[in-house]
Order: sequence, then C-alpha cells, then structure tokens
Amino acid sequence: MVNSSISNCDRGIVFNIQRYSLHDGDGIRTIVFMKGCPLRCAWCANPESQAANIEVSLKTIHCIGCRSCEVHCPHQAIRFLDGKPTIARELCTVCGNCEQACNTGAMSLMGQEMTVEEVFHQVISDRPFFDASNGGVTFSGGEPLMQPHFLKNALRRFHEANISTVLETCGFASKEILESVQSYVDTFYFDIKLMDSEMHKKFTSVSNERILSNLAYLQRTGSRVLVRMPFIPGVNDSKENLVATGMYLKKIDIPEIQLLPYHSYGASKYPTVGRAYKFHSHVPSTEEMENARKILVGCGVKVKI
Ligand code: SF4
Ligand code: SF4
Repeated sequence: MVNSSISNCDRGIVFNIQRYSLHDGDGIRTIVFMKGCPLRCAWCANPESQAANIEVSLKTIHCIGCRSCEVHCPHQAIRFLDGKPTIARELCTVCGNCEQACNTGAMSLMGQEMTVEEVFHQVISDRPFFDASNGGVTFSGGEPLMQPHFLKNALRRFHEANISTVLETCGFASKEILESVQSYVDTFYFDIKLMDSEMHKKFTSVSNERILSNLAYLQRTGSRVLVRMPFIPGVNDSKENLVATGMYLKKIDIPEIQLLPYHSYGASKYPTVGRAYKFHSHVPSTEEMENARKILVGCGVKVKI
C-alpha cells in the first residue's frame, strides 16, 4: 500500500520531475514539482498539485472500458457510468492497484513519495546541461514550502553539490520556514496576486499580509527575488490594483515584475482529479497587457511580459 502522507524529513511527495525547462530560472533547468498548496487560486492551472496527499488521476479519454481497474480495486471505489469509470474518492485508499491494472495509462497515481537522495540522483544526471547553460534545479508545485523539512534537506543537498537552486513560491509560509530554507535558495520566484486582502482571500482562500511581509523580508535580507503576477482580467487588472502593486514594490525596493497572462490550459485537468473548473476570465489582449505595463512603469517599476 502506498503511504499517502508525508512521513519524515527525508521523504517528500513529488508529482513530477520535468527536464529541460527554459522558463523557470536561468539556463536549462530540471523542475521538481511537489504536492500540496495552502492557496486555492480560482484559476489554478495545476489542480493536481493542490492536495497535499497522493491521489488517483483518471483520464477517461484514454479509457477503453476493460473494467480491469474495477475488478482489482479492493474497496469497490471504482464504479461504471455509461461505460466509463468513476472514482468514489471517499472510499479510495490510494493503494495503487488500479494503476497497476490499467494498461492504457488512464488510471495513475498523482504523486509519489521520494527521498532526498532519490530526487538528487534523478536530477543530477542533468548536470552537464546545467554546467553548459548556468542552469540548475527548480522546486515548484504546488507550494514546496508546504513540505519544509524535505525541501530544506533537498535544497541543501543541491546547494552543497554546487547546483543552482530556484524556489517557486506563493510566499504563504511562516517566517521560520522561510528562514530555514533561505540560505540554500539562489533565486526565489515569488508570485503575488492581489493587493487588497479581502479580494485576495476571495480568489485564493487566504489573505495576503503574510505573503507581502515575506516578500519584503526576502528583499530586505538580501535574497535574489524575482516577482511575478498572473495577470487575470476581472481579478487583478484594475488600475487600483496595479497602482497599489507598483507602489508596494517600489516601497520595498523591488525594481521589476513579470506579468504572466492568464490562460485556461489547466481546465481539462480538473476532471482527472474529480473536480470541475468553474473560473471564467479571458486571455488578456495585447492592449490590456500594454495598459497594465504602462501603469506599473508609471509607478517606477520595470515590467517583463
Ligand atoms: S487506488 Fe485505485 S484500486 Fe486503490 S482504492 Fe483507490 S480507486 Fe481503488
Ligand atoms: S483499467 Fe484503465 S482502460 Fe480499463 S476500464 Fe479501468 S481506466 Fe479504463
């Protein structure tokens, strides 16, 4: 049986290790995606990352209706409706039998327990690419700070091996946790969403005070921090929010922000983990992006799009 909880400091739950990325730090990078996030952003493109535990992913598009998964499930958690399987997730113990029984890849476990050494040995095989491009390892998620002991040990392992480390974070963690990893992180990719705390809570489920305080702390204490903001029409594109964002960054001496235009590529992943994508926005136009850029530049902040 698969252990679906995080058991000790040396083991973490990872749901993907992606090689040859050019977008998540300097050079060529290998990204370690970790399970669990304290936020529930309405637009999240990685719904499979949000739950901290391992879960079953079901891609019905790959299902040929052989019913092998149903036969092998020891808890009668798989039921058929119109010839397609559904999962009664309250009965599922993530034993992994359905994944083993499924020959098409329709059933799979999302997340696996890995030790620091297992992650290190997978990633370190890419060292020639890191050396040739000033790349390295990037921890992403989910929110890696949700697994603080594993993350600290993993970051330290790479740091001691002279591999560049990036941490992609939503910034929602205690100061103690942030401090515990800080010296092993070469660059923080720090995401902010909204400056109004009530609005932040409405769209992400948490208020933003701790996030903004952590951002200021990292900048004040000399970490390399690159700030990003998903740019989402109807959520954070108002002049009021953009001015407040620009003024805050200026106040805490952060010179630049990257705007990431909203997309809905993650919508199709929601049903695979038993959820529905309910968020509505649109891909921002060139004019909308340019307007936002001008407002932020007017506050004295450089903008990367
Ligand atoms: S992992 Fe699959 S086989 Fe195991 S209990 Fe859950 S649905 Fe059933
Ligand atoms: S084992 Fe795989 S292909 Fe067969 S019914 Fe289950 S999900 Fe579909």
